[in-house]
This record gives sequence, C-alpha cells and structure tokens, in this order.
Amino acid sequence: MLKGAQISKIIINRYLEELDSYLKTDVAVVGAGPAGLTAAYYLAKKGHKVAIFEKNLSIGGGMWGGGIMFNAIVFQEEVREIFEEFGIEHRSHGDGYYSADSVLAVTAMGSQTIRAGAKIFNLLSAEDVLAEGGNRVTGLVLNWTTVRMAGLHVDPIAVEAKYVIDASGHDCQIANFVQNNLQEKLLTETGKIMGERSMWAESGENNLLEYTKEVYPGLFVVGMSASAAYGGHRMGPIFGGMLLSGKKAAQEIDVCLKNK
Ligand SMILES: Cc1cc2nc3c(=O)[nH]c(=O)nc-3n(C[C@H](O)[C@H](O)[C@H](O)COP(=O)(O)OP(=O)(O)OC[C@H]3O[C@@H](n4cnc5c(N)ncnc54)[C@H](O)[C@@H]3O)c2cc1C
Repeated sequence: MLKGAQISKIIINRYLEELDSYLKTDVAVVGAGPAGLTAAYYLAKKGHKVAIFEKNLSIGGGMWGGGIMFNAIVFQEEVREIFEEFGIEHRSHGDGYYSADSVLAVTAMGSQTIRAGAKIFNLLSAEDVLAEGGNRVTGLVLNWTTVRMAGLHVDPIAVEAKYVIDASGHDCQIANFVQNNLQEKLLTETGKIMGERSMWAESGENNLLEYTKEVYPGLFVVGMSASAAYGGHRMGPIFGGMLLSGKKAAQEIDVCLKNK
C-alpha cells in the first residue's frame, strides 16, 4: 500500500542528504541559464564538485524563448562543437550561422549537466555572498525563493565554495552583492559594475570571452553577467557566446582548482 507519509519521508531524506553534501563544494554556480549550465557541465566533467542554485522552478534562464519569443536559437561556427557535445541537433544556414530548437537545447543541456555529475538545486535564490575572511568570496548565502517572494523573515542557508560563478544573467546579482553588500571594489576598469551597453551583436559576442573572468577574488562572471559587469554590448538573440563563456570559465577555474 502506498502511504503519503512514507513518500514524504523518502523525498525529505533524499533531498536533505544531497543538500547536506553540497554545503561545501568546489564550485557554486548561481543561475541555470545557458552560461551557468555550460560552466557546470565542463567543471563536473573534470571531476569537480559543482552545485547550481537556481531561483526559479525551471532551469534554462532566457533560453526557452529563443529570440523574439520564437523558440529557435541561433549560434555561430565556433560554438558548434559545444552543441554537438551536448547532443543538440542543429541546422546550418550558411555563412557560419546555425540554429537549434531552444526547448531541445535547454533539456539536453540540463540532462547532460546532471549526468556529468553537477547537482542542480532549484527554488533556491542567492541573496548574498559569503566572505569569511573579508577579501575573497568564499561561498553563497541562499534562501528559498518562496520565502523571498512572501517577504518572510527567515534566516538563510550558507554554502561554502572554493569558487563562485555569477551566471545570474543581466542583473549580475552576485557581483552586485560584492559591490553593494560587501562594499568592495570589483576588478573592472571602474571598480564597479559597468552596466550593459546598447545592442551590437558582433562586439558583444567578441568581447564576452575577454569579460569572462574573475571579477573579484573567488568570483567569476559568465554569460550576460560578464557582459553587464564589464560593460559589454548586448548581442540580441544569439546564444553562442553564452556557451563559450561558460566553457571558458570552467577551463580557468579547473586550472585554479588544480593549483589550489
Ligand atoms: C531584456 C532582455 C534582453 C536580452 N538581451 C540579450 C542580449 O543582448 N544578448 C543575448 O545574447 N541575449 C539577450 N537576451 C536573451 C537571454 O537572456 C540571454 O541570451 C541568455 O539567456 C543569457 O544567458 P545567461 O546564462 O547569461 O543568463 P540567463 O539565461 O538569464 O540565466 C540566468 C539564470 O539565473 C537565475 N538567477 C538570477 N538571479 C538568481 C539568484 N539570485 N539566485 C539564483 N538564481 C538566479 C535566473 O532565474 C536564470 O535562470 C535578453 C533577454 C532579455 C529578457
């Protein structure tokens, strides 16, 4: 006979066991959009312990809608290899342009990232950084998204990480926490978040890899967070840079973790 309490017990025990095992992790990624998923995938493949914390119920960030709410995404030649690695079928449109189904892209990236060994915790929002020691990000302060939505006064969960990745998208929320809560200077030209600039696809995509780096000790920015933190141009609906950015951060953090 199926018993409700037994079902709840299995869910609670399994979840708490997993959450407990990620309270100390190698890399904590904020945001399960295309950049965060790609970074987590490549880090997990290298054998690092990686958790993604996603505030929403669903993963995928802005990728589901493709461009202009038409669920097709466009990417360029340099990224084809990553799409193939994730097993995402795509079409060539000549001149180095490719397209893929955005729903397939999100679901394939999600499943491959988990199968590579990364753990995704949804419904958890990052609300601050942990900076125990004062001059380095050492983890995240998280709370249940529902607690934040209800405006309840409930204390958060702290997670320690050797590196944190800000993959929170346009708002670069984690870099914001360093600037506004920790009140520290960022490693940008102005020492502050420089803000996203008007749309220029080529410049935005080309500069994104340059901006994908440590923005404060212990904190990397990827995807649109990198663009916003370092003042890049927005690209419009082309997603290649998001994946390339995630992969680049993973490669750099892999080297840092090996040298630690
Ligand atoms: C206004 C607007 C403009 C856009 N402009 C561009 C553009 O110029 N170029 C372009 O390529 N695409 C653009 N897009 C499309 C799309 O947002 C991005 O291409 C792509 O989704 C960004 O990928 P990402 O992984 O960096 O971030 P996102 O896909 O935005 O993913 C970020 C994820 O982080 C999660 N998150 C955010 N804050 C927290 C938190 N505190 N705790 C936990 N999780 C959190 C979000 O729920 C989300 O799932 C735009 C979208 C919008 C809405």
